Amino acid sequence: MEVILVPAFADNYIYVLRDAASGKVGVVDPGDAAPVQAELERRGWSLTHIFLTHHHDDHIGGAAALKDRYRASVVGARADAHRIPGLDVALGDGARTVFGEQTARVFAVPGHTSGHIAFWFEAAETLFSGDTLFSLGCGRLFEGTPAQMWESLQSLRALTDQTRVYCGHEYTQSNGRFALTVDPANDALHQRMEEVAGLRARNQPTIPTTIGMERRTNPFLRADDPGVQSAIGMAGAPAVEVFAELRRRKDHFRG
Ligand code: ZN
Ligand code: FE
Repeated sequence: MEVILVPAFADNYIYVLRDAASGKVGVVDPGDAAPVQAELERRGWSLTHIFLTHHHDDHIGGAAALKDRYRASVVGARADAHRIPGLDVALGDGARTVFGEQTARVFAVPGHTSGHIAFWFEAAETLFSGDTLFSLGCGRLFEGTPAQMWESLQSLRALTDQTRVYCGHEYTQSNGRFALTVDPANDALHQRMEEVAGLRARNQPTIPTTIGMERRTNPFLRADDPGVQSAIGMAGAPAVEVFAELRRRKDHFRG
């Protein structure tokens, strides 16, 4: 499965997918239709599937126009059926959905929003995590509790190390500045930040990351790590409480 990054707005990524075996073409979280249409026209592709991780406008704003133009099928969370216009395929936790020769498994990942889902394409080991898991960060808790988000992140953390992670925003460098304040002795994090600085200096994306990389460097996946816990003065505390404290600190962080 081919994945193409389409930047939108200030820091969103929209993803165009193509399953080579079937020729099916999908898009994940098209907040804006115009850059997606331009990319499709440039390649001579026609859209068949629109995958939506959650209802926020910067992720669905272009879906209706693309559906209209290409008669593509809109795939999203059953829990968000009331607030995702034009939803054709409504899925819950654990559901599988077919995209050409690929199958995606749905993870319900509440926290950022109550209906948020992630799509894991099993054979391609490719995850679309929306605004739940970012590189070196996680989404703000608009409609969920720390306990819900921690559980959601644990379910994504359990995926294979080599799983490529495509998230909704290019937030890696600012997330990393915060991460260094709560995991200062993490060599892998320092190395990743050097790599990220180089990429951003050349205006290159830091995405995709991998689950393995995030397990080693993302503090929000490391609330049960002794190094993170002692760095914030919470050695031995329950992971969910450590996670809540990390999220609270990030909300107030000015880097
Ligand atoms: Zn969002
Ligand atoms: Fe977003």
